[in-house]
Amino acid sequence: VRYAILGDIHGNWEALGAVLADIRRSGVDQHVCVGDIVGYNPDPARCLEQVRDLGTLVVQGNHDFFTVHPPGAMDMSAVAAAAIEWTCANLEDDHRQYLAGLPKNRTFDDVSVVHNTLEQTRHWQYVLGVDDANRSFAHQDSGVCFIGHTHVPVVFKKKKGLVTIARYKTIELDPDSKFLVNVGSVGQPRDRDPRAAYVIYDSDTRQVALKRVAYEVGRTQEKIRKAGLPLWLALRLAFGV
Ligand code: ZN
Repeated sequence: VRYAILGDIHGNWEALGAVLADIRRSGVDQHVCVGDIVGYNPDPARCLEQVRDLGTLVVQGNHDFFTVHPPGAMDMSAVAAAAIEWTCANLEDDHRQYLAGLPKNRTFDDVSVVHNTLEQTRHWQYVLGVDDANRSFAHQDSGVCFIGHTHVPVVFKKKKGLVTIARYKTIELDPDSKFLVNVGSVGQPRDRDPRAAYVIYDSDTRQVALKRVAYEVGRTQEKIRKAGLPLWLALRLAFGV
């Protein structure tokens, strides 16, 4: 089975459209989303409807969650909170119901999917280093787990009790290791590469390939300005931070 695994779309329609065109060219059987369909960027409804219409297997991200459960002051930065408030006001009831009903985890075909970590998802903590990854691996029965949340594509590998971290373009999933793969972000990359990121995973060959797709950043930036969203959200897209 060929899976396209994408996440942290964050309401960026230009990025999502470019990624879906790229996916159509390579051909996949199933779309999977590691969460955060909405938040930050100005097209949450359109992105949500597209993801929903593709029959995507989705898990809930923190922005999806906080859009339907308004955040407390401690839960996120002022910029993120302002964007959440804007997003909430620009969705319909059926969108909110969809976000509220998303599961936190999914497992299928020796694959796990979660937004941030399998350790526990209540506080939306990040997997930044090998210690965080090791705590997630303790809850991972499948050979590979796909995550997002940091917007930085990296792979953690656990072999004979040892966890290592690496950047990647392709990964061969060898059967005596476990893998925790961050698929990067479609709508707000933070690895200093402004191109949208997503992953193709083939469960027959057990290969993971990271894809990068250029899109019309200027168009999204213009929409952010017109929507009155914080200007930093436009600026950062040009730099991939
Ligand atoms: Zn995110």
